[in-house]
Amino acid sequence: METKKKDIRALTREQLRGFFVDQGDRAFRGNQVYEWLWQKSAHSFDVMTNLSKETRGLLEANFVINHIRVDQMQRSADGTIKNAVRLHDGLVVESVLIPTANRTTACVSSQVGCSLDCKFCATARLKRMRNLNPDEIYDQVVAIDNESRLYFDRPLSNIVFMGMGEPLMNYNNVLKAIDKITSPAGLGMSPKRITVSTSGVPKMIKKMADDGVKFKLAVSLHSAIDEIRTSIMPFNATFTLTDLREALQYWYNRTKSRITYEYVVWEGINDTQRDVDALVDFCKFAPSKVNLIEYNPIDDGQFQQASKTALDRYVGTLEENGIVVTVRRSRGKDIDAACGQLANKH
Ligand code: SF4
Repeated sequence: METKKKDIRALTREQLRGFFVDQGDRAFRGNQVYEWLWQKSAHSFDVMTNLSKETRGLLEANFVINHIRVDQMQRSADGTIKNAVRLHDGLVVESVLIPTANRTTACVSSQVGCSLDCKFCATARLKRMRNLNPDEIYDQVVAIDNESRLYFDRPLSNIVFMGMGEPLMNYNNVLKAIDKITSPAGLGMSPKRITVSTSGVPKMIKKMADDGVKFKLAVSLHSAIDEIRTSIMPFNATFTLTDLREALQYWYNRTKSRITYEYVVWEGINDTQRDVDALVDFCKFAPSKVNLIEYNPIDDGQFQQASKTALDRYVGTLEENGIVVTVRRSRGKDIDAACGQLANKH
């Protein structure tokens, strides 16, 4: 009976070294393989040319390399690229490359589907199938880095965890992926260029603070009034704004790093002065930045982008209160790569 081979990228460097020692070989062989797997993103043992044929055969007999495949790549008129990424078990997630004048940002997924149920989000309509493994997150980044070099002649500069899924519901794997992305043995990117965007899971925000993470935090707020937030993000009934604020205060006290809020203004939902005042009030406890994001309807028309007057009211009031505010135009609308359309969302 054939035994199932193990995914070699689930092994740490130490475990790989141990494997070779157990086989009567030298531990450094593990380092060589680790380098092929992570720094060089090898998709087969055959390409590991500094290993003997026997060693490659040994690896082949014991392991598989489960890598992602970009099944379909769509390019938008504005340069945005959306990848449909097939996982080894046939499930599909999406990731997006967003180019601006001097940056290339990768928006990556952390789960297949999502366990939360935000009413404005396309991903919420897919049920959560599973968490992504660290290597599946890492591979999305590598694929976008390659595309950035190919089409824009520069490496990837920033990463946002804003694709499918709630990253803090898959915290351990997200952390492991970021570890590889930032490690010199991986992509060597600075953690300051990575933003984890959460819909706000208080317990996990505190854990991130305790873990001393170096990447940035963004919170998809969308309303600072409990009843309204619960109506569009039902999990807010459990993780209330009071809990969220308390966790963010904890985060700020520990990290002293500014908090970014992602915020969409919808017509008839959160477009009044009362909504703006509640947001100002919510932000007060720590230095904050609010990104007002243009919304892209996902289909049924329940959510519509608010008027320019409403947006101006937000910008004016936030600025008057010393809160940094930016208005983000949406990218890649023509290929459904914009926020709220992917499977992308928060
Ligand atoms: S907005 Fe984010 S947390 Fe909410 S359902 Fe969509 S993917 Fe999940």
